[in-house]
Amino acid sequence: MTKNIAVIKGDGIGPEIVTEAMKVLDKVAERFGHTFNYTEVLMGGCAIDATGEPLPKETVDVCLKSDSVLLGAVGGPKWDKGEGKARPEAGLLGIRSALKLFANIRPAKLLKPLADACPLKEEITSKGLDLVIVRELIGGAYFGARKTGIEDGHKTAHDDMKYSDYEIERICRVAFDMARKRRGKVTSVDKANVLDSSRLWREISHKIAAENPDIEFSDMLVDNTAMQLVHNPAQFDVIVTENLFGDILSDEASMITGSLGMIPSASLGETSLGLFEPCHGSAPDIAGQDKANPIATILSAAMMLRYSFDMAKEADAIEAAVDKVLEDGYRTGDIMSEGMKQVGCKEMGTLIAERI
Ligand code: NAD
Repeated sequence: MTKNIAVIKGDGIGPEIVTEAMKVLDKVAERFGHTFNYTEVLMGGCAIDATGEPLPKETVDVCLKSDSVLLGAVGGPKWDKGEGKARPEAGLLGIRSALKLFANIRPAKLLKPLADACPLKEEITSKGLDLVIVRELIGGAYFGARKTGIEDGHKTAHDDMKYSDYEIERICRVAFDMARKRRGKVTSVDKANVLDSSRLWREISHKIAAENPDIEFSDMLVDNTAMQLVHNPAQFDVIVTENLFGDILSDEASMITGSLGMIPSASLGETSLGLFEPCHGSAPDIAGQDKANPIATILSAAMMLRYSFDMAKEADAIEAAVDKVLEDGYRTGDIMSEGMKQVGCKEMGTLIAERI
């Protein structure tokens, strides 16, 4: 098969980690007889420097014409003073919206070789830690109307958290379908004791639950969920939630698995075109030092093969190669523990590619 991949390396460690993911994809192509063509485009701080805007039109056009998009990370202190649409992060929101990617899928799984890196007590993790957060990605407070100004003599800012029934319905359907392929359980997270948008969320999620009686379903308030994730994460299979809550909970879930550098994500819409990126940011503190962990990006490439290209065997091969490298005792600095062999970003990519 031939697939055209738009590549957005971005800022900070982005170029280093994406280069390693491409190394692994090239090995997959060689081993399984595929051709992956890459087109590199700009987004984020590097795009602001080159064109004055975080998401040039050319980037959107190339992504829309591609079979899928692989992204590193954007942002950094150099561009922190920019405001609103001039910030690198505006590129992220813009590309998700332009590609109509409404579902963000973030798995959080504790890998056995990394049990030491998990900050939770063994008595908690021994019950299991293998969940997926399905986050609504193009609605809620991040996309609602916003306003700043002076009200009653005070500087005031508003961000409107708005949801419509169809937006809740389509993300809930993604969660139920995913649960059916996993352990058959969905927890819908909201703040229905306070927010009207959450009360609508609850009404619609219950409707979809009634249409999927084979799936075990429950609601949980977001504050309780934040607590339960560290108290008893084994109770969760698929968590579905709105944009802002999902942003926070998925970082929490990532961290309890040991390192942000290990967690991939997929953003999906109605078609097979998706955006695949690590959960972490551009880590400016370690950029350009060959210290970054490329595994989250490599596993994101595996998700691209699985969800965008329907290449399950190839995705399995990448995931197995990552497990093998960790079992063989190789670690980047962020997941290093006593007795293990520390390697840099490039070597980690090479070791994984060699095991495909
Ligand atoms: P971050 O995720 O970049 O870094 C947090 C910490 O984790 C840092 O100490 C960093 O060194 C470490 N870390 C992250 N990824 C790592 C990896 N692969 N290997 C080893 N260590 C890793 O979060 P931050 O510091 O809050 O943000 C830095 C910049 O990234 C900001 O400009 C922020 O806006 C941006 N950001 C971008 C995205 C994205 O592109 N999707 C997401 C989050 C943050």
